[in-house]
Amino acid sequence: MRNPARQTRDNRTITVDFRSEATYFQLLGDGKAFLECVLAFIMALGFQLKHKATCRGGGCLTRHSHYVRVRLGGITIWRIQCTTCRAVFTVLPHFILRYRPMRPEVARDALLATHGGLSLELCAVIQHISPMALYRLVCAFGHHSLVTVLTRCGLPLPVYVLADEKHSTCLADKVYLPTIVYGRVLWHLGYTTEASAVALTESYGVFQRAASQHEPSYRVKGVLTDGFDSTTKSLRMLFPGVRVGICLRHALLKLPKKLMAITSPVRKALRTQFHTLLYRARQRKSLRVFALGQRLRHFVDHVTATAGPANGERVRRWFQAKKAGWYAGLADPQMPVTSTLLDQAHNAVERKLFAMKGFHHPKGSQQAFLTGLAHLYNLVPYQRRAIHAGQCGVEVEGGTVPTHDWLLNLQILTSGGFR
Ligand SMILES: [Zn+2]
Repeated sequence: MRNPARQTRDNRTITVDFRSEATYFQLLGDGKAFLECVLAFIMALGFQLKHKATCRGGGCLTRHSHYVRVRLGGITIWRIQCTTCRAVFTVLPHFILRYRPMRPEVARDALLATHGGLSLELCAVIQHISPMALYRLVCAFGHHSLVTVLTRCGLPLPVYVLADEKHSTCLADKVYLPTIVYGRVLWHLGYTTEASAVALTESYGVFQRAASQHEPSYRVKGVLTDGFDSTTKSLRMLFPGVRVGICLRHALLKLPKKLMAITSPVRKALRTQFHTLLYRARQRKSLRVFALGQRLRHFVDHVTATAGPANGERVRRWFQAKKAGWYAGLADPQMPVTSTLLDQAHNAVERKLFAMKGFHHPKGSQQAFLTGLAHLYNLVPYQRRAIHAGQCGVEVEGGTVPTHDWLLNLQILTSGGFR
Protein backbone atom coordinates (compact mmCIF):
# COMPACT_ATOMS: atom_id res chain seq x y z
CA MET A 1 0.00 0.00 0.00
CA ARG A 2 1.68 3.18 -1.12
CA ASN A 3 -0.63 5.59 0.59
CA PRO A 4 -1.96 4.32 3.89
CA ALA A 5 -4.76 6.37 5.37
CA ARG A 6 -3.24 9.20 7.34
CA GLN A 7 -3.70 8.90 11.05
CA THR A 8 -6.22 11.38 12.27
CA ARG A 9 -4.57 13.83 14.62
CA ASP A 10 -6.14 14.11 18.04
CA ASN A 11 -9.10 15.86 16.58
CA ARG A 12 -11.82 16.78 19.04
CA THR A 13 -14.24 18.30 16.61
CA ILE A 14 -17.89 17.59 17.26
CA THR A 15 -20.69 18.25 14.81
CA VAL A 16 -23.82 19.47 16.59
CA ASP A 17 -27.28 19.75 15.08
CA PHE A 18 -28.61 23.22 15.95
CA ARG A 19 -31.75 22.62 13.83
CA SER A 20 -31.44 25.94 12.00
CA GLU A 21 -28.79 28.49 11.24
CA ALA A 22 -30.90 31.16 12.94
CA THR A 23 -30.88 29.19 16.21
CA TYR A 24 -27.13 28.88 16.00
CA PHE A 25 -26.55 32.59 15.50
CA GLN A 26 -28.94 33.37 18.32
CA LEU A 27 -27.12 31.02 20.69
CA LEU A 28 -23.76 32.59 19.87
CA GLY A 29 -24.86 35.54 21.97
CA ASP A 30 -25.71 33.44 25.01
CA GLY A 31 -22.87 31.29 26.33
CA LYS A 32 -24.92 29.41 28.90
CA ALA A 33 -27.70 28.50 26.49
CA PHE A 34 -25.11 27.51 23.88
CA LEU A 35 -23.43 25.05 26.25
CA GLU A 36 -26.75 23.63 27.39
CA CYS A 37 -27.81 23.07 23.81
CA VAL A 38 -24.53 21.29 22.98
CA LEU A 39 -24.73 19.08 26.07
CA ALA A 40 -28.37 18.21 25.45
CA PHE A 41 -27.50 17.18 21.91
CA ILE A 42 -24.65 14.93 23.07
CA MET A 43 -26.89 13.37 25.72
CA ALA A 44 -29.61 12.71 23.18
CA LEU A 45 -27.11 10.86 20.98
CA GLY A 46 -25.96 8.79 23.93
CA PHE A 47 -22.38 9.72 23.10
CA GLN A 48 -19.60 10.96 25.35
CA LEU A 49 -16.90 13.49 24.71
CA LYS A 50 -13.38 12.21 24.15
CA HIS A 51 -11.53 13.70 27.11
CA LYS A 52 -7.83 13.19 27.69
CA ALA A 53 -6.85 9.72 28.87
CA THR A 54 -6.50 10.70 32.52
CA CYS A 55 -9.86 12.48 32.71
CA ARG A 56 -13.07 10.76 33.64
CA GLY A 57 -15.17 13.61 32.33
CA GLY A 58 -17.80 14.86 34.66
CA GLY A 59 -16.03 18.18 35.08
CA CYS A 60 -17.50 21.42 33.91
CA LEU A 61 -17.37 22.58 30.35
CA THR A 62 -16.73 26.21 29.63
CA ARG A 63 -16.86 28.19 26.49
CA HIS A 64 -13.18 28.42 25.76
CA SER A 65 -12.49 30.74 22.90
CA HIS A 66 -13.84 31.34 19.52
CA TYR A 67 -12.34 31.74 16.17
CA VAL A 68 -13.74 33.14 13.02
CA ARG A 69 -13.87 30.97 9.96
CA VAL A 70 -12.66 33.16 7.19
CA ARG A 71 -13.29 30.70 4.42
CA LEU A 72 -16.95 30.44 5.28
CA GLY A 73 -17.80 34.09 5.12
CA GLY A 74 -16.78 34.73 8.70
CA ILE A 75 -19.00 32.33 10.62
CA THR A 76 -18.01 32.18 14.28
CA ILE A 77 -17.07 28.77 15.62
CA TRP A 78 -16.92 28.19 19.36
CA ARG A 79 -14.70 25.86 21.23
CA ILE A 80 -15.51 24.39 24.61
CA GLN A 81 -13.04 23.19 27.19
CA CYS A 82 -13.17 20.62 29.98
CA THR A 83 -12.16 22.36 33.18
CA THR A 84 -10.59 19.15 34.51
CA CYS A 85 -8.37 17.87 31.68
CA ARG A 86 -8.34 21.04 29.59
CA ALA A 87 -9.28 19.11 26.42
CA VAL A 88 -10.68 21.52 23.87
CA PHE A 89 -13.60 20.57 21.64
CA THR A 90 -14.41 22.49 18.50
CA VAL A 91 -18.17 22.72 18.06
CA LEU A 92 -19.12 22.63 14.40
CA PRO A 93 -22.71 23.55 13.63
CA HIS A 94 -24.51 21.10 11.34
CA PHE A 95 -24.34 23.45 8.36
CA ILE A 96 -20.54 23.44 8.22
CA LEU A 97 -18.22 20.72 6.93
CA ARG A 98 -14.93 20.43 8.73
CA TYR A 99 -12.13 22.41 7.00
CA ARG A 100 -14.25 22.80 3.91
CA PRO A 101 -15.93 25.80 2.36
CA MET A 102 -18.48 23.46 0.76
CA ARG A 103 -22.05 23.70 2.02
CA PRO A 104 -23.58 20.41 3.25
CA GLU A 105 -26.45 20.61 0.74
CA VAL A 106 -23.89 20.84 -2.06
CA ALA A 107 -21.90 17.96 -0.60
CA ARG A 108 -25.07 15.90 -0.13
CA ASP A 109 -26.06 15.99 -3.80
CA ALA A 110 -22.53 15.46 -5.09
CA LEU A 111 -21.87 12.55 -2.70
CA LEU A 112 -25.18 10.91 -3.53
CA ALA A 113 -24.41 11.11 -7.24
CA THR A 114 -20.92 9.74 -6.52
CA HIS A 115 -22.38 6.87 -4.55
CA GLY A 116 -24.77 6.17 -7.41
CA GLY A 117 -21.86 5.75 -9.81
CA LEU A 118 -21.73 9.07 -11.63
CA SER A 119 -18.18 10.15 -12.43
CA LEU A 120 -16.52 12.62 -10.08
CA GLU A 121 -16.26 15.04 -12.99
CA LEU A 122 -20.01 14.99 -13.65
CA CYS A 123 -20.87 15.02 -9.93
CA ALA A 124 -18.80 18.17 -9.73
CA VAL A 125 -20.73 19.69 -12.64
CA ILE A 126 -24.01 19.16 -10.78
CA GLN A 127 -22.90 21.44 -7.98
CA HIS A 128 -20.27 23.71 -9.54
CA ILE A 129 -17.43 22.38 -7.45
CA SER A 130 -14.11 20.94 -8.56
CA PRO A 131 -13.85 17.16 -8.96
CA MET A 132 -10.79 17.27 -6.73
CA ALA A 133 -12.77 18.97 -3.95
CA LEU A 134 -15.27 16.13 -4.07
CA TYR A 135 -12.51 13.51 -4.10
CA ARG A 136 -10.95 15.14 -1.03
CA LEU A 137 -14.29 15.26 0.73
CA VAL A 138 -14.78 11.50 0.31
CA CYS A 139 -11.19 10.98 1.53
CA ALA A 140 -11.82 13.23 4.56
CA PHE A 141 -14.68 11.02 5.72
CA GLY A 142 -12.53 8.00 4.85
CA HIS A 143 -9.90 8.96 7.41
CA HIS A 144 -12.31 7.73 10.06
CA SER A 145 -12.46 4.01 10.71
CA LEU A 146 -15.47 1.96 9.62
CA VAL A 147 -15.37 0.04 12.90
CA THR A 148 -15.57 3.26 14.93
CA VAL A 149 -18.51 4.61 12.95
CA LEU A 150 -20.43 1.33 12.92
CA THR A 151 -19.99 0.62 16.62
CA ARG A 152 -21.15 4.18 17.36
CA CYS A 153 -24.37 3.16 15.63
CA GLY A 154 -24.74 0.38 18.18
CA LEU A 155 -23.92 -2.45 15.78
CA PRO A 156 -22.19 -5.40 17.46
CA LEU A 157 -18.90 -6.51 15.90
CA PRO A 158 -19.76 -9.25 13.41
CA VAL A 159 -19.09 -12.83 14.50
CA TYR A 160 -19.77 -14.43 11.12
CA VAL A 161 -18.65 -12.54 8.04
CA LEU A 162 -18.14 -12.72 4.32
CA ALA A 163 -14.65 -11.96 3.07
CA ASP A 164 -13.31 -11.66 -0.46
CA GLU A 165 -11.09 -9.47 -2.59
CA LYS A 166 -12.39 -7.36 -5.40
CA HIS A 167 -10.01 -7.22 -8.35
CA SER A 168 -9.51 -3.75 -9.75
CA THR A 169 -6.89 -1.76 -11.62
CA CYS A 170 -4.88 1.33 -10.81
CA LEU A 171 -4.04 2.59 -14.30
CA ALA A 172 -2.52 -0.57 -15.83
CA ASP A 173 -1.63 -2.29 -12.56
CA LYS A 174 -3.71 -4.97 -10.93
CA VAL A 175 -4.87 -4.10 -7.43
CA TYR A 176 -7.07 -5.85 -4.88
CA LEU A 177 -9.70 -4.62 -2.46
CA PRO A 178 -9.92 -6.98 0.52
CA THR A 179 -13.46 -6.70 1.82
CA ILE A 180 -15.37 -7.78 4.91
CA VAL A 181 -19.15 -7.66 4.82
CA TYR A 182 -21.83 -8.58 7.30
CA GLY A 183 -25.35 -8.32 5.92
CA ARG A 184 -25.81 -4.94 4.29
CA VAL A 185 -22.81 -3.35 5.99
CA LEU A 186 -19.19 -3.03 4.88
CA TRP A 187 -16.82 -3.48 7.85
CA HIS A 188 -13.62 -3.34 5.85
CA LEU A 189 -12.65 -2.17 2.38
CA GLY A 190 -8.88 -2.29 1.96
CA TYR A 191 -6.42 -1.74 -0.86
CA THR A 192 -3.41 -3.86 -1.78
CA THR A 193 -1.19 -4.15 -4.85
CA GLU A 194 -0.61 -7.87 -4.28
CA ALA A 195 -2.85 -10.85 -3.65
CA SER A 196 -0.33 -12.67 -1.43
CA ALA A 197 -1.30 -13.97 1.98
CA VAL A 198 1.08 -11.43 3.54
CA ALA A 199 -0.53 -8.48 1.76
CA LEU A 200 -4.05 -9.67 2.57
CA THR A 201 -3.14 -10.31 6.21
CA GLU A 202 -1.91 -6.75 6.46
CA SER A 203 -5.13 -5.40 5.03
CA TYR A 204 -7.56 -7.61 6.99
CA GLY A 205 -5.37 -6.93 10.02
CA VAL A 206 -6.49 -3.30 9.96
CA PHE A 207 -10.02 -4.49 10.68
CA GLN A 208 -8.84 -7.01 13.25
CA ARG A 209 -6.88 -4.36 15.18
CA ALA A 210 -9.66 -1.79 15.07
CA ALA A 211 -12.15 -4.36 16.29
CA SER A 212 -9.87 -5.65 19.06
CA GLN A 213 -9.27 -2.12 20.23
CA HIS A 214 -12.99 -1.70 20.57
CA GLU A 215 -13.50 -5.09 22.19
CA PRO A 216 -10.33 -6.91 23.30
CA SER A 217 -12.01 -10.32 23.41
CA TYR A 218 -13.33 -10.02 19.86
CA ARG A 219 -13.08 -13.16 17.70
CA VAL A 220 -14.50 -13.97 14.30
CA LYS A 221 -16.06 -17.43 14.52
CA GLY A 222 -16.85 -18.05 10.89
CA VAL A 223 -15.92 -16.62 7.50
CA LEU A 224 -17.34 -17.47 4.14
CA THR A 225 -14.93 -17.01 1.23
CA ASP A 226 -14.78 -18.05 -2.41
CA GLY A 227 -11.99 -20.47 -1.53
CA PHE A 228 -8.96 -18.39 -2.61
CA ASP A 229 -5.90 -19.71 -0.78
CA SER A 230 -4.35 -16.38 0.32
CA THR A 231 -7.67 -15.23 1.77
CA THR A 232 -8.06 -18.40 3.81
CA LYS A 233 -4.46 -18.24 5.06
CA SER A 234 -4.65 -14.61 6.08
CA LEU A 235 -7.94 -15.05 7.93
CA ARG A 236 -6.69 -18.09 9.81
CA MET A 237 -3.61 -16.14 10.79
CA LEU A 238 -5.63 -13.19 12.11
CA PHE A 239 -8.43 -15.17 13.73
CA PRO A 240 -7.01 -18.41 15.11
CA GLY A 241 -9.61 -21.16 15.20
CA VAL A 242 -11.90 -19.43 12.73
CA ARG A 243 -14.16 -21.67 10.68
CA VAL A 244 -13.55 -20.93 7.01
CA GLY A 245 -16.34 -21.95 4.66
CA ILE A 246 -16.43 -21.81 0.89
CA CYS A 247 -19.35 -20.21 -0.89
CA LEU A 248 -21.67 -22.77 -2.48
CA ARG A 249 -22.73 -20.39 -5.20
CA HIS A 250 -19.13 -20.02 -6.35
CA ALA A 251 -18.94 -23.80 -6.46
CA LEU A 252 -21.95 -23.85 -8.71
CA LEU A 253 -20.37 -21.32 -11.06
CA LYS A 254 -17.13 -23.29 -11.16
CA LEU A 255 -18.57 -26.71 -12.00
CA PRO A 256 -19.10 -26.13 -15.77
CA LYS A 257 -15.42 -25.17 -16.09
CA LYS A 258 -14.43 -28.58 -14.74
CA LEU A 259 -16.41 -30.38 -17.43
CA MET A 260 -14.60 -30.50 -20.74
CA ALA A 261 -15.37 -31.82 -24.22
CA ILE A 262 -19.04 -32.57 -23.57
CA THR A 263 -22.18 -31.19 -25.18
CA SER A 264 -23.88 -28.18 -23.75
CA PRO A 265 -27.09 -30.02 -22.74
CA VAL A 266 -25.08 -32.58 -20.74
CA ARG A 267 -23.14 -29.80 -19.02
CA LYS A 268 -26.35 -27.95 -18.21
CA ALA A 269 -28.03 -31.08 -16.86
CA LEU A 270 -25.07 -31.79 -14.57
CA ARG A 271 -25.06 -28.21 -13.33
CA THR A 272 -28.76 -28.43 -12.50
CA GLN A 273 -28.21 -31.70 -10.63
CA PHE A 274 -25.31 -30.19 -8.70
CA HIS A 275 -27.48 -27.21 -7.81
CA THR A 276 -30.18 -29.50 -6.44
CA LEU A 277 -27.59 -31.45 -4.49
CA LEU A 278 -26.21 -28.36 -2.75
CA TYR A 279 -29.69 -26.97 -2.16
CA ARG A 280 -30.86 -30.20 -0.50
CA ALA A 281 -27.71 -30.38 1.61
CA ARG A 282 -28.55 -26.92 2.94
CA GLN A 283 -32.15 -27.80 3.65
CA ARG A 284 -31.32 -30.70 5.91
CA LYS A 285 -30.91 -29.34 9.36
CA SER A 286 -29.22 -32.39 10.82
CA LEU A 287 -26.62 -34.68 9.29
CA ARG A 288 -26.02 -32.13 6.60
CA VAL A 289 -22.33 -32.84 6.43
CA PHE A 290 -22.73 -36.59 6.25
CA ALA A 291 -25.42 -36.24 3.59
CA LEU A 292 -23.24 -33.92 1.53
CA GLY A 293 -20.23 -36.28 1.57
CA GLN A 294 -22.35 -39.17 0.37
CA ARG A 295 -24.07 -37.12 -2.28
CA LEU A 296 -20.79 -35.76 -3.62
CA ARG A 297 -19.50 -39.31 -4.09
CA HIS A 298 -22.66 -40.27 -5.95
CA PHE A 299 -22.38 -37.18 -8.10
CA VAL A 300 -18.82 -38.06 -9.14
CA ASP A 301 -20.07 -41.51 -10.21
CA HIS A 302 -22.81 -39.83 -12.17
CA VAL A 303 -20.34 -37.48 -13.92
CA THR A 304 -18.12 -40.43 -14.79
CA ALA A 305 -21.09 -42.28 -16.29
CA THR A 306 -22.45 -39.39 -18.33
CA ALA A 307 -19.36 -37.29 -19.15
CA GLY A 308 -16.56 -39.84 -19.13
CA PRO A 309 -13.84 -40.86 -16.64
CA ALA A 310 -11.58 -37.86 -17.35
CA ASN A 311 -14.30 -35.42 -16.28
CA GLY A 312 -15.27 -37.65 -13.38
CA GLU A 313 -11.69 -37.66 -12.12
CA ARG A 314 -11.35 -33.88 -12.49
CA VAL A 315 -14.54 -33.27 -10.53
CA ARG A 316 -13.49 -35.78 -7.87
CA ARG A 317 -10.18 -33.96 -7.32
CA TRP A 318 -11.94 -30.62 -7.22
CA PHE A 319 -14.41 -31.91 -4.61
CA GLN A 320 -11.50 -33.27 -2.62
CA ALA A 321 -9.90 -29.84 -2.49
CA LYS A 322 -13.05 -27.90 -1.68
CA LYS A 323 -15.29 -30.14 0.35
CA ALA A 324 -13.77 -29.23 3.71
CA GLY A 325 -14.77 -25.62 3.01
CA TRP A 326 -18.29 -26.64 2.00
CA TYR A 327 -18.61 -28.81 5.12
CA ALA A 328 -17.44 -25.90 7.27
CA GLY A 329 -20.17 -23.75 5.81
CA LEU A 330 -22.85 -26.35 6.45
CA ALA A 331 -21.68 -27.58 9.84
CA ASP A 332 -22.44 -24.30 11.59
CA PRO A 333 -26.01 -23.12 11.08
CA GLN A 334 -24.96 -19.52 11.73
CA MET A 335 -22.50 -19.44 8.86
CA PRO A 336 -23.65 -17.46 5.86
CA VAL A 337 -24.13 -19.84 2.95
CA THR A 338 -23.63 -17.60 -0.07
CA SER A 339 -21.67 -14.44 -0.62
CA THR A 340 -24.40 -12.62 -2.53
CA LEU A 341 -24.40 -9.65 -0.14
CA LEU A 342 -20.68 -9.24 -0.56
CA ASP A 343 -21.03 -9.29 -4.34
CA GLN A 344 -23.66 -6.57 -4.08
CA ALA A 345 -21.27 -4.39 -2.07
CA HIS A 346 -18.50 -5.03 -4.58
CA ASN A 347 -20.74 -4.13 -7.47
CA ALA A 348 -21.66 -0.84 -5.81
CA VAL A 349 -17.99 0.00 -5.27
CA GLU A 350 -17.06 -1.13 -8.77
CA ARG A 351 -19.61 1.21 -10.37
CA LYS A 352 -17.82 4.03 -8.66
CA LEU A 353 -14.24 2.98 -9.34
CA PHE A 354 -14.96 2.30 -12.98
CA ALA A 355 -16.29 5.82 -13.37
CA MET A 356 -13.28 7.46 -11.80
CA LYS A 357 -10.36 6.18 -13.82
CA GLY A 358 -8.92 9.68 -14.01
CA PHE A 359 -8.44 9.80 -10.24
CA HIS A 360 -7.23 6.27 -9.84
CA HIS A 361 -3.54 7.09 -10.08
CA PRO A 362 -0.66 5.50 -8.13
CA LYS A 363 -0.22 8.46 -5.81
CA GLY A 364 -3.87 8.88 -4.91
CA SER A 365 -5.25 8.32 -1.42
CA GLN A 366 -6.82 5.02 -2.40
CA GLN A 367 -7.34 3.68 1.10
CA ALA A 368 -9.00 6.83 2.39
CA PHE A 369 -11.12 7.16 -0.73
CA LEU A 370 -12.32 3.55 -0.50
CA THR A 371 -13.14 3.88 3.20
CA GLY A 372 -15.08 7.05 2.36
CA LEU A 373 -17.03 5.13 -0.27
CA ALA A 374 -17.69 2.39 2.27
CA HIS A 375 -19.15 4.96 4.70
CA LEU A 376 -21.50 6.10 1.96
CA TYR A 377 -22.48 2.51 1.24
CA ASN A 378 -23.32 1.98 4.91
CA LEU A 379 -25.11 5.25 5.60
CA VAL A 380 -26.90 6.35 2.43
CA PRO A 381 -30.52 5.15 2.60
CA TYR A 382 -31.41 2.69 -0.10
CA GLN A 383 -34.69 1.40 -1.35
CA ARG A 384 -34.97 -2.04 -2.73
CA ARG A 385 -37.86 -3.54 -0.93
CA ALA A 386 -40.66 -1.74 0.80
CA ILE A 387 -39.77 -3.33 4.12
CA HIS A 388 -36.54 -1.32 4.32
CA ALA A 389 -37.62 1.70 2.33
CA GLY A 390 -35.72 4.78 3.35
CA GLN A 391 -33.33 2.92 5.64
CA CYS A 392 -29.58 2.75 5.28
CA GLY A 393 -27.55 -0.44 5.58
CA VAL A 394 -26.74 0.27 9.22
CA GLU A 395 -30.44 0.50 10.10
CA VAL A 396 -31.29 -2.62 8.11
CA GLU A 397 -28.77 -4.48 10.28
CA GLY A 398 -30.38 -3.16 13.48
CA GLY A 399 -28.14 -0.17 14.17
CA THR A 400 -29.38 3.30 15.02
CA VAL A 401 -28.30 6.52 13.36
CA PRO A 402 -28.35 9.92 15.10
CA THR A 403 -30.78 11.75 12.79
CA HIS A 404 -32.98 11.27 9.74
CA ASP A 405 -30.42 13.06 7.58
CA TRP A 406 -27.75 10.70 6.24
CA LEU A 407 -25.17 13.39 5.55
CA LEU A 408 -25.59 14.87 9.01
CA ASN A 409 -25.21 11.34 10.37
CA LEU A 410 -21.97 10.99 8.44
CA GLN A 411 -20.74 14.32 9.85
CA ILE A 412 -21.70 13.41 13.42
CA LEU A 413 -20.46 9.83 13.32
CA THR A 414 -17.07 10.83 11.91
CA SER A 415 -16.58 13.57 14.51
CA GLY A 416 -13.28 12.98 16.28
CA GLY A 417 -14.45 14.50 19.56
CA PHE A 418 -16.97 11.79 20.37
CA ARG A 419 -16.16 8.58 22.10
ZN1 LIG B 1 -11.90 16.22 30.75
